[in-house]
Amino acid sequence: MDFNTKVIHGGQQHDPSTGAVMPPIYQTSTYAQSSPGSHKGYEYSRTANPTRTALENALASIENGNYGLAFGSGLAAIDAVIKLLNPGDEVISTNDLYGGTYRLFTKVFENFGIKFHFIGMDNTNNIEKYINDKTKMIWVETPTNPMLNIIDIEASANIARKHHLRLVVDNTFATPYLQLPLDLGADIVMHSATKYLGGHSDVVMGALIVKDKNLADKLYFIQNASGAICGPMDSFLVLRGIKTLHIRMQRHCENGKAVAEYLESHPKIDKVYWPGFENHPNHEIAKKQMKDFGGMLSFTIKGNSYDKAIKVLENLKVFTLAESLGGVESLSGHPASMTHASIPKEEREKTGVIDSLIRLSVGIESKKDLIKDLEKALQLI
Ligand SMILES: *Cc1c(COP(=O)(O)O)cnc(C)c1O
Repeated sequence: MDFNTKVIHGGQQHDPSTGAVMPPIYQTSTYAQSSPGSHKGYEYSRTANPTRTALENALASIENGNYGLAFGSGLAAIDAVIKLLNPGDEVISTNDLYGGTYRLFTKVFENFGIKFHFIGMDNTNNIEKYINDKTKMIWVETPTNPMLNIIDIEASANIARKHHLRLVVDNTFATPYLQLPLDLGADIVMHSATKYLGGHSDVVMGALIVKDKNLADKLYFIQNASGAICGPMDSFLVLRGIKTLHIRMQRHCENGKAVAEYLESHPKIDKVYWPGFENHPNHEIAKKQMKDFGGMLSFTIKGNSYDKAIKVLENLKVFTLAESLGGVESLSGHPASMTHASIPKEEREKTGVIDSLIRLSVGIESKKDLIKDLEKALQLI
């Protein structure tokens, strides 16, 4: 089945009790049993709920996995993955990681005796330097936020396999429309479904997808035991979002390219970070592992003025200044004062998060209107 068919039908069946084409929102916590232990596959909605099952099957299908798990947020999904580990274990992770993931690793799981190495993964040869007999996991996020670096998933998978480590890929920015980490050798794909999978900025959710039954069983056990599940209404919304993922992503990519090219030629703009440019340092890897380059990009203003960046952000009308990304509407953000404000200036500047850096999540509006909006705001500085 092609991806465009899978997003609509993958893992889905019409509701067996009524024939409903869309799975009903099974707003129930429990299920009648005819005799103790005798039921129709559902006992209690923390363990499983039919609407969530429909979503989990769809997630498995679109990522070319065999098992999907849905959680109450992206961070809840990450939390479940790290609970596969034991005190003393080590994880090698990228240094350009989503801020919330970094916070969970360093402020919560380090207290439980798990050690994290945050390293530059642009060159995957770097990874092997940090592997020792305590290493259990490699954590990759690509493209990264907000610098849009690209990490070679296949090369990371080869290193993981050689050293018997688990490779996890946060596929939130790319989505399975653009890249399929399980096909490239990853063991676990993780999503903040809050972003492109949901796609409409109306739900917070996380997801995991795996191929291996043994690993899936361990994660299902943690999902049920720790209990960070999502509800049936949210499951329904993300399932509905997935049905248009392919057309939304196609338009996100088209608009992303148009906005990136416009900014690249603008005299007041210094750098534009977008993996589709041939001079992007990881362009070749992006071309190899991604179908297109996505709708996320960042740029800086000549002279690196904090005030000018703020003025542009205050004057954008079609782009909404807000946290998050991946919805149909375009969003803008200022990493230095928003997502990355808790990181010391010196630290964040090392990775490129300077004062004039602006991040855009390019939506699926008319690209003419998006460019006009940027043009008007840039005229004011
Ligand atoms: C948003 C995000 C997360 C965290 O997901 P939540 O749904 O906000 O908990 C993790 N990774 C990436 C890349 C994200 O953008």
